[in-house]
Amino acid sequence: MEIKEYVALRKEALKQQVRALPRAPHLVIIQANDNPASDAYIRGKLKDSAEIEARATLLKFDPSISEDDLLAEIEKVNHDPDVDGLIVQLPLPSHISEEKVKSAVAPEKDVDGFHPLTTFDPCTPKGIVDYLTASGFSFQGANAVVLGRSNIVGKPMAKMLLKKNCNVTVLHSKTTEEDKAFYIHHADLIVVAIGRLGFLDGRYDYKPSAYIVDVGINRGEDGKLHGDAVPGLPVTLQTPVPGGVGLLTRLALIENLVIAAKHE
Ligand code: NAP
Repeated sequence: MEIKEYVALRKEALKQQVRALPRAPHLVIIQANDNPASDAYIRGKLKDSAEIEARATLLKFDPSISEDDLLAEIEKVNHDPDVDGLIVQLPLPSHISEEKVKSAVAPEKDVDGFHPLTTFDPCTPKGIVDYLTASGFSFQGANAVVLGRSNIVGKPMAKMLLKKNCNVTVLHSKTTEEDKAFYIHHADLIVVAIGRLGFLDGRYDYKPSAYIVDVGINRGEDGKLHGDAVPGLPVTLQTPVPGGVGLLTRLALIENLVIAAKHE
């Protein structure tokens, strides 16, 4: 199923779940930056919440806010019984510790899935696994290759695929070209998250039955967004960029929000 169609169907189902709850789920977004990319992501999150009839509130602070004051604001939201989900938009100003902030969010409200004790799956890997499941991908015993080992995508992705009983190989910038070619050739699933425009291309051999999930978002010389894979590789399924994993990540956040509200 096309990603846009899948997301629209899931949102409709979420809206029905929201309508059946005693009160609308409430998401709070804390922002402490003046980053235009963050503004765009937040607009998307507010729009998604509205579409499923959930409430969303943006608390925007000046980037000069002290770490202690920001932690105090998080604590206030943690204790507000009217709030189901709390996310802190990254990046944070350099004088504020990302680790401290991530650990300060109450695990039961951590719908981004960043807290060490969170019960929520992080949004990008969750969005990908849910979509692959809906697309009929058979995880058990599949050879999955994750390109990239960042804390935000590569590592949690590998962990979730292990949980789904895939044989997982994580490749990174120190992997030799020869080894990359070997693992890619044997892969049933390739998740590429390295931030290199068109890195996966015709120089590799793919299984015709392979699924390629393209997480990369790169601005091309044409001013447009492109993935880490060139479009049209000879495989069974390849997610597009734009209109691919970005949409799945956004969907996973509102899925987590509805789960948080149900736990209430
Ligand atoms: P990151 O923190 O920069 O990590 C990049 C990873 O790729 C690193 O582990 C790095 O290896 C590896 N790498 C770099 N060059 C490589 C190469 N030539 N061969 C193999 N591995 C290589 O990036 P990130 O935050 O994970 O994001 C990756 C991409 O996904 C970016 O384009 C980002 O914009 C995008 N993204 C999209 C979404 C979405 O929702 N669609 C969400 C998050 C991120 P080392 O560890 O050895 O340095």
